[in-house]
Order: sequence, then structure tokens, then C-alpha cells
Amino acid sequence: MKKFTFKIIEFIFIIFLTNLCYIQESKIQSTATLNTKGVPVLIYHEIVTDSNRELGETVISLEKFKQQMAYLASQGYKPISMKEFLRYLNKGGSLPDRSIVLNFDDGWLNALNAVPVLEKYSFPASFWIISGPKGIGKGEYMEWSDIIQLSKNPLFEIGSHTYSHPWNPKDNLVTWVDNKTPSKGNKEALFELKESKRLLETQLGIPIDYLAWPCGWYNERLIELAKISGYKALLTTEEGANKPGSDPFRIKRIFIDGKCELSTFKDQLENSKYIVCQKSQKSTRGNSPYALNRDGNE
Ligand SMILES: [Zn+2]
Repeated sequence: MKKFTFKIIEFIFIIFLTNLCYIQESKIQSTATLNTKGVPVLIYHEIVTDSNRELGETVISLEKFKQQMAYLASQGYKPISMKEFLRYLNKGGSLPDRSIVLNFDDGWLNALNAVPVLEKYSFPASFWIISGPKGIGKGEYMEWSDIIQLSKNPLFEIGSHTYSHPWNPKDNLVTWVDNKTPSKGNKEALFELKESKRLLETQLGIPIDYLAWPCGWYNERLIELAKISGYKALLTTEEGANKPGSDPFRIKRIFIDGKCELSTFKDQLENSKYIVCQKSQKSTRGNSPYALNRDGNE
């Protein structure tokens, strides 16, 4: 009987040890795997409180946004600044496991809804501003006073999103430098890049080193013009994660479609891919406006 009891104890002990190892191993795997996959950069645009707004690629409800930030915090994701992210891309080195980057494109006034949520979790983020008159104020976009306030918050950074954000598939930075838009060329493209940098630097009194391409459209010529303008990093809308040694002039980013559920968000974080849920309009893909022209989509 004694021998039998001992056997049972031994059996339980072995089971316990096996489980312990399993738990340890799965813990190590879950933290290490994500790090080797690189860092995803998430793109948000409008953060809306009006329940009548159609959600999609560029519109998410504040409620869903809060849910996503709470998920990031609960799962140990670590949003990092653009500065830290660029240091990692250029020099390598270690980053916290589950590092990610949060971007807010276009300077929408309602993107300020994100601020208290980001502050609650101490999440760094960057805002990408259309610095010409088209992208400032008018009730839709932030005023200079808002942007100045953001730039003074140690959690936040400001980047350029060009002077006027040309978005027409037949009339944009790419078609200009390709000489496909009458009366527009390299000179006008260079102005968009240089003037947005100059205006932001003058208004905010800080260096503006990074630029996000409007609609994610760019080509080799534009990368050259951006380098001439003094930018040190360029952000695309091509999906994927970013690893040390990745080109800082072709940073990959993922749209967060506001129509998707939290389960999709989890998938996007783990696999650094763009998942489309919106149905009402075509999604933004790749770096070329010509694909849209072929489809007849304006
Ligand atoms: Zn944009």
C-alpha cells in the first residue's frame, strides 16, 4: 500500500514538472516569437464619437479604439516612439518584447479623442500633419494651437504628411514626378516635401525628420526628392513588420480598419498584415496610384 501511495505521489510530481516545463516553454515562445517577427506600425486616422459615421480604413469609433488600447496594455504590448523605432531599425539592439508603433495620419481634429486614452496607458504616438492651409483648422483638422500642444507633450511626436496631401489617383506626387499631370512636375513635388517640413519646424520649433506618403503612393524619384528635402525616414502603407536593417525610407505600416472586431486586431498584431473589413469603399494597397486608375476608381 505504501509503495502504491509513493507511486501515485511520484506520478503527480512528474505531471506537475511536465506542466511546469510546458508553461515555461510556451511563455518563452510567446515573447520571443513576436520579437523576431519585427515591429508593426499601426495607422489610425479619425477617432469618432458619432455613431452615425460609417467605420472603415480611416475611421474607428472611440469605443473600439479604447478597447484596442486596453487589449495592448493587458497583453504587454509596448508602444514605442518613432525615435526609438528608428534607432532600432538603423542600429539594431534590443527592444521590449511586443514593441509596436502608433501613428495617426492627416491631423484630424477628432484624432485628439485618442489623447486621454494614450495618456492613460502612457503610450507614445505620432501625428502626421498636412501642414498647408488645406490640412489646418476648418473644424475638420487640428488648429496650429492643437499641434503645438501635442508637440509639447513628451509622449507625442509630429511628422510631415506633405503640404496639401494630393490624393487624386490622376493628380498626385507620383503622377507629377512621372510627368503625367499637366503643369506639375519635380518642382511641385519638392515644394510639397520641403514646405511642409519648413512650416512644421517654424511653427513648432523642433526638427521634422520623418514623412508619411499621402495614400502611401511613392516611387524611387520621390524617395530621392525626400532625401534632398532632409527627411531621415519615410513611411509607406505597405503591410509587414519592420526589422533591424529594414530600409528606413520604406517603413511598412498597417491600416487598422475601424469596421473590424477585436479578434481581427489580435491577428493583425501577430502577423503584421492589413485585414480589410470595410465594404463601402476600395481599400488602399501598395504604393502605386496607377493600379487605381486601371480599375477606373477615382
Ligand atoms: Zn493621409
